Amino acid sequence: NALIQLENLEKVYYTAELETHALCDVNLTIRRGEFVTVTGPSGCGKSSLLSILGLLDTPTRGDFTLAGKSVARLRRNERAHFRNREIGFIFQAFNLIGSMSVSENVALPLMYRKLSRDERGRRVDDALEKVGMAHRRDHRPSQLSGGQQQRVAVARALAGDPAILLADEPTGNLDSKNSVMIMELLCDLHREGATICMVTHNPDFVAYAQRRIALLDGRVVADEITATAARGA
Ligand code: ADP
Ligand code: ADP
Repeated sequence: NALIQLENLEKVYYTAELETHALCDVNLTIRRGEFVTVTGPSGCGKSSLLSILGLLDTPTRGDFTLAGKSVARLRRNERAHFRNREIGFIFQAFNLIGSMSVSENVALPLMYRKLSRDERGRRVDDALEKVGMAHRRDHRPSQLSGGQQQRVAVARALAGDPAILLADEPTGNLDSKNSVMIMELLCDLHREGATICMVTHNPDFVAYAQRRIALLDGRVVADEITATAARGA
């Protein structure tokens, strides 16, 4: 039941006279329903990997199959099409739009989809319910705490009902209490069936997932099942 399959994947950045091999011979399968973390030191290729998984960037060589379809060589507009349907992003800096209300922010990724106004409204409501932010739907992001803003950002990622949630350091801008709250939320979503791939520097949060992939110099140097989840510890 593979959702994502990477085969001999390579990413090379060409700048001036420099070639940077950001990813080298990456072979990886992520199955539906998995909660995976990606760890490793700065510069090891985490962002490059997430950009490729999120169809923001293309691999230099190798194959990438998403939900049974080869997407490694898609043109930009085809990539955007799949990205809109299959990928939900959660960022370190929340990336909410300050001039829009919470519900307008959550509705944003649905604008590119052919959905009726009613259907959009239903999806926004469902997503806000799931993250416990329905009571703040008419607030602006600036009227919310960091933890609440990230919950709204999670709702935005969920609204399109994507095949996978990609999270890049989702707790990086949060204090420890709010970080744990966001990790618990991701755990809840995982238990309800979500597939999640999360980049993190924080070793404490690796145990919330089931599987850890470690990168070093663009290579996968560990791929292991984590010890029992840290919840409640
Ligand atoms: P993080 O992965 O920790 O969020 P970044 O992705 O911003 O950090 O950067 C990771 C590394 O990649 C850094 O060493 C940074 O200097 C380098 N980097 C990011 N973008 C570029 C770029 N456009 N050109 C050259 N190096 C870059
Ligand atoms: P991480 O997210 O783990 O910090 P990155 O994927 O950002 O790692 O970077 C991997 C390597 O690729 C680093 O050596 C970085 O400097 C380089 N790199 C990242 N983005 C670019 C870019 N746009 N242009 C040139 N080099 C880049």
